[in-house]
Amino acid sequence: MVIGVLALQGAVSEHVALLKRCNVQTKLIKEPADLQGIKGIVLPGGESTTMHKLLVRERLLAPLKNLVQHNFPVFGTCAGLVLLTQPETFNSFDGEVIRNGFGRQRESFESAIEVAGFTDPFPGVFIRAPYLKKVGTDVKVLATLAANRIVAARQKNILVTAFHPELTLDTRFHELFVNQVVPMSKFVAN
Ligand code: GLN
Repeated sequence: MVIGVLALQGAVSEHVALLKRCNVQTKLIKEPADLQGIKGIVLPGGESTTMHKLLVRERLLAPLKNLVQHNFPVFGTCAGLVLLTQPETFNSFDGEVIRNGFGRQRESFESAIEVAGFTDPFPGVFIRAPYLKKVGTDVKVLATLAANRIVAARQKNILVTAFHPELTLDTRFHELFVNQVVPMSKFVAN
């Protein structure tokens, strides 16, 4: 099984490394032809405005949006969560995203996160992270921080985290994603 990692900008190699630890093959996605044959895609952290512009420039926005809106498995971390949620990019994840939601004092921090379904806390690495203020009824909230800030969630084919599992050695979120891809593996991008 091959999982794509959007490779326009941001924490690409870190996702590739964790996916390899989950025993899946990876493919860097830089142009529309690269989408062929992948069974899921990771949208990494980085800078969402820059990534949006690059998606448009490389003509990846329309084909990727089409996939995501048609049940294709996608995992967005940090800027990836922003892209999946905001109307001008993928407009797919049903939530209200607050970019850089933790403010200046807490630009970067680590926090042990209780995640629904995980026995032990997850090491959450937050870097100018967004959070979800509210989410639609078909979204399952997986983790929140103080003041009910939603920092991990799933909506059908879409898994999002406001933090960066790829900057840890903890594969649990990637495994969750890979396990979500397997039952859908009949779906192949073409
Ligand atoms: N604040 C960034 C944005 O909105 C996301 C930061 C990150 O991905 N680490 O694009």
